[in-house]
Amino acid sequence: MRPTLAVVGAGAKAVAVAAKAAELNHMGVDVPEVVAVERTGVAANWQAEGGWTDGQHRLGTSPEKDVGFPYRSSFPVLRAGAQAPGRNAELDDRMTRHSWQSYLIATGQFAEWIDRGRPAPTHRRWSQYLRWVATNCEMNVISGEVTRIAVDTEADAPRWALHTSEKAVLADGLMITGPGQPERSILPGNPRVLSIAQFWHRAARNELSAERVAVIGGGETAASMLNELFRHRVSTITVISPGVTLFTRGEGFFENMLFSDPTGWTALTLEERRDALARTDRGVFSARVQEALLSDDRIRHLRGRVAHAVARDSRIRLTLSTNQGGENLETAHGFDLVIDGSGADALWFVPLLGQDALDLLELGLGGPLTGESLQEFIGDDLALTDITPKLFLPGLSGLTQGPGFPNLSCLGLLSDRILGSDLVANRGLSERPSGRANASTPEIAHRAAG
Ligand SMILES: Cc1cc2nc3c(=O)[nH]c(=O)nc-3n(C[C@H](O)[C@H](O)[C@H](O)COP(=O)(O)OP(=O)(O)OC[C@H]3O[C@@H](n4cnc5c(N)ncnc54)[C@H](O)[C@@H]3O)c2cc1C
Repeated sequence: MRPTLAVVGAGAKAVAVAAKAAELNHMGVDVPEVVAVERTGVAANWQAEGGWTDGQHRLGTSPEKDVGFPYRSSFPVLRAGAQAPGRNAELDDRMTRHSWQSYLIATGQFAEWIDRGRPAPTHRRWSQYLRWVATNCEMNVISGEVTRIAVDTEADAPRWALHTSEKAVLADGLMITGPGQPERSILPGNPRVLSIAQFWHRAARNELSAERVAVIGGGETAASMLNELFRHRVSTITVISPGVTLFTRGEGFFENMLFSDPTGWTALTLEERRDALARTDRGVFSARVQEALLSDDRIRHLRGRVAHAVARDSRIRLTLSTNQGGENLETAHGFDLVIDGSGADALWFVPLLGQDALDLLELGLGGPLTGESLQEFIGDDLALTDITPKLFLPGLSGLTQGPGFPNLSCLGLLSDRILGSDLVANRGLSERPSGRANASTPEIAHRAAG
């Protein structure tokens, strides 16, 4: 029986891994059975239903950075196998069937896309592409929201048990994806403080109008919301982020290369890597968004971290703390509407971990589970080192493995690393004798308990 790799969320990463697993399976390579557990629908976070976007805003990275990018497979078994020459090239060739351009060709949109100058697709179109790939590779998706992650010790080796309200899915390896939940808010329940999901909901109903608006966060999520806010009746927009200013991503060849090709990343010191991430990734707006920001005089930037928020006199008072010359300075500011766009939280899954799962991880980490400790423990396969069963955390792997792994920059490489990992000791990956296809199991009912 093939080991199972469960993925929380059927988003871009799950689709990329499922597509590559399907192609490797056709090539006769034993790879894990990939099962995604999804609370809404495939690629939901790229549509309005996921709460992170209204679907109309445009992808920041190029769509050619699709599920197979950078089409430079280096799959361990194919690299080492008897018929090694050409096998990775064959895999790349097979993956082009799932490319952005193949999608456009299959859906009759290719010529128009070229003639329009290769525009960045809307988030919605990107989700349609991901759904097309998922359908083509017969991706196995189980509907349900994962509410608890535990460790199952009934079999010989421990496995992950993913609990939804209806069932438990058992798996030999687990990959966590996505930015977390868009319903977070610094002042839940207050109508003047909106979560990301509430913002998009109100924007769709044209219910965003206020004098002084604050947007907390300086990342891609906040950027999409700023792009939308311009169209509504607001007098001033203050972007609050800890950075000295709102930086622009350079998007030149050398920066892009860091994301597409992590070769050499591990040779940098941790300090150099943190510096590179700060310049290119965290709290940095794309050039396109910056261009729009510059031309609108309603927008201001305020440096600081929001320490707390209170409702007072029909306004929201935010207390910002700023480090100035080594001293912590607190300042208060009033707004009519606050949008909490602090966005993606790579540790969003931690509250789902049961005590047994927490104990297992803390034992492996040799101390308390923190963002820092998790990041530093991520190995070449994007999983925590020396922890069984395997826990793949691509969202936290930027620091040790390369800045492209948490996002869409090298989904093909990400799939190689994850599928090339040995999920079950003594049941390592191998090439099957030719001609014996491994039929993909459509449902994992035999492995689903409860
Ligand atoms: C508005 C916005 C724009 C972005 N633009 C870019 C861009 O242009 N380029 C780029 O590289 N990155 C971009 N990002 C970052 C982006 O999040 C990642 O690059 C990419 O989506 C990660 O893919 P993923 O598979 O990890 O997650 P996603 O594609 O977000 O998928 C996560 C899935 O998990 C599901 N889910 C969540 N919780 C649960 C649960 N408890 N149980 C079951 N299912 C669950 C969700 O419904 C969702 O379908 C953007 C992010 C946002 C929010």
